[in-house]
Amino acid sequence: ELALQKQLLQNRLSETKRLLRERDDALQSRDEFLSIASHELKTPLTSLHLQLQTMSRALKKPEMSDEAKIARLGKGLAVCEKQSGKLAALLDELLDLTRIRLGKLTLNKERTDLTAISRDVTERFREEAKRSGSELRHVEGDEPVVGNWDPTRLDQVVTNLVSNAIKYGNGRPAEIRISKPGGNAARIEIRDEGMGIPPDMLDKIFQRFERAVEGDSISGLGLGLYITRQIVEAHGGAITVESRVNGGSIFRVDLPIGEAG
Ligand code: ADP
Repeated sequence: ELALQKQLLQNRLSETKRLLRERDDALQSRDEFLSIASHELKTPLTSLHLQLQTMSRALKKPEMSDEAKIARLGKGLAVCEKQSGKLAALLDELLDLTRIRLGKLTLNKERTDLTAISRDVTERFREEAKRSGSELRHVEGDEPVVGNWDPTRLDQVVTNLVSNAIKYGNGRPAEIRISKPGGNAARIEIRDEGMGIPPDMLDKIFQRFERAVEGDSISGLGLGLYITRQIVEAHGGAITVESRVNGGSIFRVDLPIGEAG
């Protein structure tokens, strides 16, 4: 009888210890994430702040002509616009993370042309790609690829994947390909020739906060692919990746077309 009670107490003790360890781990990863997120938010904010300071200093210079001031402001405002865009994108990722955790990632589905979206995203990124040395290629079939999807969320999926293809693409060309492999399925493939992903990270990169790059070399919250997968799966689709270290990556999204096709 006594031995049994002792055993039960011991079991309960080790269970409590395990729960405490889990709680400590969770708190530690939350603290780590807060520190990474703050750092990531601080970078564009600092640049925004510096730019505003330089602009107001230029305005106060008596020796500077009005034309020179206007030119300086024009340049400064472009930087401000870019940095505030980065800030907004980071905050959107954080908001999406919360939405997903609360089960509130809702889709507003409507008749959506996937080719038009991916063409749009490609155009939006063409300048940025060129600056990093990449050439973007958009490949589409003759048939329109139309389905019952949330256009804003699909734009976000393609945007995330194309932006990663440039970010991790080592300045090499990237390709966005839209196809219809079956009667009731649509496929988006984004292929780059960049740094690739180590085999042991291929599953992990779709999890929250997981990154395959070390340190500060390329910035990011490690949320983009997590959010992307949640959106794709909410549509009843799937996302997969093939990659080789230094041999580039292909991200493949398959979506059911649904009734509106
Ligand atoms: P972030 O880019 O903010 O780190 P993501 O969730 O978009 O977050 O990506 C997670 C990780 O997956 C990245 O940190 C990177 O290591 C890896 N990754 C994503 N896309 C690519 C790619 N096209 N080529 C190589 N690695 C990639």
